Amino acid sequence: MKTLQRTLAIIKPDAVHKRASGQIVSLILENGFNIIGVKMLHLTQQQAEGFYAVHAGKPFFGSLTTFMSSGPCVVLALEKEENAIAAWRKLMGATNPANAEEGTIRKRFAEGIERNAVHGSDADDTARWELSYFFAGYELAK
Ligand code: ADP
Ligand code: MG
Repeated sequence: MKTLQRTLAIIKPDAVHKRASGQIVSLILENGFNIIGVKMLHLTQQQAEGFYAVHAGKPFFGSLTTFMSSGPCVVLALEKEENAIAAWRKLMGATNPANAEEGTIRKRFAEGIERNAVHGSDADDTARWELSYFFAGYELAK
């Protein structure tokens, strides 16, 4: 039996601002992910700091959380058979768009290493934590 895996995706404020959300949602659906939760949020700086707490202390933390709270973003709960976390990170492309492969979202939409269009969880435990940061259980479609 195939098991479904979930991951947390964010369309970041740079991509929302340039009206790329629709194209990114289309790519998500065309690549076989189910969207089981979605909300548009304008995070406060404090909420962005909470989400990125793992990066507290990095030189880019202040700038990153200011960027992430600079405008609305679209937060999505994605589900896919077997490998949602790895498949979404592959579709996103490398953190630095200069290193991102052709056909990836970051290659197409990212402006730089910080304003890089999308977020994706990096492991099972972080996906669970990130999903619970933005969604209550009853908000996810069965
Ligand atoms: P990813 O989003 O690919 O998982 P990281 O978890 O390493 O990448 O970093 C989180 C986010 O912080 C990145 O997506 C990017 O927006 C920002 N970031 C990472 N590294 C840098 C950097 N060297 N300078 C500025 N911003 C960065
Ligand atoms: Mg990361």
